Amino acid sequence: MSHGTRRPPTPVGLSDLRSTDEASLPQPGVDAGAGHGVPAWLAATLNHCSRCGAPLHLGMVPGEDRERLACDACGFVAYVNPRLVVTCLPVTDQGEVMLLRRGIEPGRGLWAQPGGFMEIDETVEAGAIRETLEETGLLVEPRSIVGLYTRPEAAIVVIAFEARIVGGAVTETPEALEVRPFRPDAIPWSGLAFRTTEWALRDWVRRVRPDLEPGGR
Ligand SMILES: [Zn+2]
Repeated sequence: MSHGTRRPPTPVGLSDLRSTDEASLPQPGVDAGAGHGVPAWLAATLNHCSRCGAPLHLGMVPGEDRERLACDACGFVAYVNPRLVVTCLPVTDQGEVMLLRRGIEPGRGLWAQPGGFMEIDETVEAGAIRETLEETGLLVEPRSIVGLYTRPEAAIVVIAFEARIVGGAVTETPEALEVRPFRPDAIPWSGLAFRTTEWALRDWVRRVRPDLEPGGR
């Protein structure tokens, strides 16, 4: 399959894990993959037209201002867009943020906020509530948006809500080996699973404890 000039395959594939190019990130909240077209791992899954089964080819399509994957046989254009990952920073009445230690890859054993892919038939808030309940046992009420983070290499956009805990009880699940609160001055920065977790927590700490000057990205 030829998709023109592409970056080499990203070894982390679908994962949102840190990688060694973190130091070269162009701006806060965006990873190094911006402006490089469809990630190679994703292009590798787009070989055939989902309507008629003929091969897809990358090229210019009338009316479009960039190359698209299109089917020569039936004209179908396979648009490739990011997916939304809905996440919460559940905050206790004491002002601590609940994080979970991941029980599954990617990032097994590391700390992250609850979250996951938004389903096609739910709202952003409902998705964030559902994922938080599934992974931590906590019922939350999303309040404000802490940030939106673009990860072109993973083909995702991550939204992080600050959320109030309104019910439920901490439950360990296969997805969460441990769920516990962290004070803003005691975030486990060196043990976070994802860049987007770090970005969201820095933005949150900046908001609730600007005196801590969390810096970074
Ligand atoms: Zn087709």
